[in-house]
Amino acid sequence: MNLGEEILLMLKDEISEIDYRRYIKQLKFSTKLSKSNHAIFHAPNALIANYINRKFSDKISHLFEVKSGSKPIVSIELKTATSSHTKNTIKNVEEKVQHTLLNPSYTFENFVPGSSNQFAYSAAKSVSEKPGELYNPLFIYGGVGLGKTHLMQSVGNVLQHQGKSIIYTSVEQFLNDFTSHMRNKTMDRFKEKYRKCDVLLIDDVQFLSNKPQTQEEFFHTFEALRNEHKQIIMTADKKPKQIAGLEDRLKSRFEWGLVADIQPPELETKIAIIQKKCEINRIILDHDVINYIATIIDHNVREIEGILSKLHAYAQLMHQPITIEFAQSVLKESLQESRDNISLDFIMSTVAKELNVKPSEIRSKNRSRNIVYTRRIAIYLSRELTPMSMPELAKYFGMKDHTAVSHTMKKINELLKNDEDFKVKIDELTNKIITSREE
Ligand code: ADP
Ligand code: MG
Repeated sequence: MNLGEEILLMLKDEISEIDYRRYIKQLKFSTKLSKSNHAIFHAPNALIANYINRKFSDKISHLFEVKSGSKPIVSIELKTATSSHTKNTIKNVEEKVQHTLLNPSYTFENFVPGSSNQFAYSAAKSVSEKPGELYNPLFIYGGVGLGKTHLMQSVGNVLQHQGKSIIYTSVEQFLNDFTSHMRNKTMDRFKEKYRKCDVLLIDDVQFLSNKPQTQEEFFHTFEALRNEHKQIIMTADKKPKQIAGLEDRLKSRFEWGLVADIQPPELETKIAIIQKKCEINRIILDHDVINYIATIIDHNVREIEGILSKLHAYAQLMHQPITIEFAQSVLKESLQESRDNISLDFIMSTVAKELNVKPSEIRSKNRSRNIVYTRRIAIYLSRELTPMSMPELAKYFGMKDHTAVSHTMKKINELLKNDEDFKVKIDELTNKIITSREE
């Protein structure tokens, strides 16, 4: 047994039987390409690769550290991954560049335009044709899983093919990079690196919120790049103006170029996206099944990939064609699974933290305004994000009975309809709960 196989066996004890059977078992460790600082596994298709990358690569990396003492970067790649991509990966790792690489499948060809994303799509396309000239910066915003990162990286992939140097980074990586250069007294190198690149892609800039030092440094990087007509693209979950705790000078600069939103896809676009994903991953699905999936998932396109990979892996294991009944049973289980993963405690503590009240106060009889407000939000989100019934929620939150919960739901729904800022706040909390649960 090679080291990679041993690691996967160790992982088996830490994850669900289903995840192991469906995904991890399909991985092959590449002894040829892997090095001590870079472990490469091959997956049979992109869906499985993405799923494992998202959910398990950190765990795998950690297990390597436990077993061998050194913590490698873990890549899950396609068996047919082009060698240039692999070479790039290795080269970058050797340079100790801590940047996530562009995902080679995030291309314009693989992106399905529709009325919900047309504006952002066209803007990104134009930027890829005339970087640094038309819309600088390009700021794309919208909810989780709607294709912001995909579009941004599509521009990156086009320009990278033309030989331009691209940095794709998150706010967190940018900050880490900054602090480690500070510590090592190599700030010149930091400045040079960011200011020498041709295109800077920075993802999820809402996380700049309340980080004055990062904002300061980002401000200077932004100025330097823009003065030299280097293209900057940013994404966020909301408009620059709505990002609380962001300096005004950044807010205004973020709007200097073009601000484009992405809305949740309508049914037709969802169907087209599923067809596209099937085509890319060579999965054959009936029209009925595709329509069914499109109606079942709500807005988050990312869910589509999870569902398709599940269906595909399942069908292969069971030697069964994917009928609508089969899809129904698999989907039911997976929706349940993802909802079961969110606990009421977690929702309560996240909401409490974000709104600055104590978790114990949420469940108390305290009727002060702020606490009632926070309690209502926690109840609303619990109802939306977990399978709990109203009586169960009433009990958990110490309320009289389910009518109190239903009253709360009504109040919050009214607010959501009439108050845009409130809606932004709720979306933000929802994203926070969903994304931190995934980690
Ligand atoms: P975000 O950054 O907005 O959270 P991502 O760009 O990570 O979302 O997209 C989530 C997943 O959904 C990705 O796998 C992406 O390829 C896919 N996706 C989203 N929108 C589309 C689209 N219009 N066409 C094809 N794939 C899409
Ligand atoms: Mg993203």
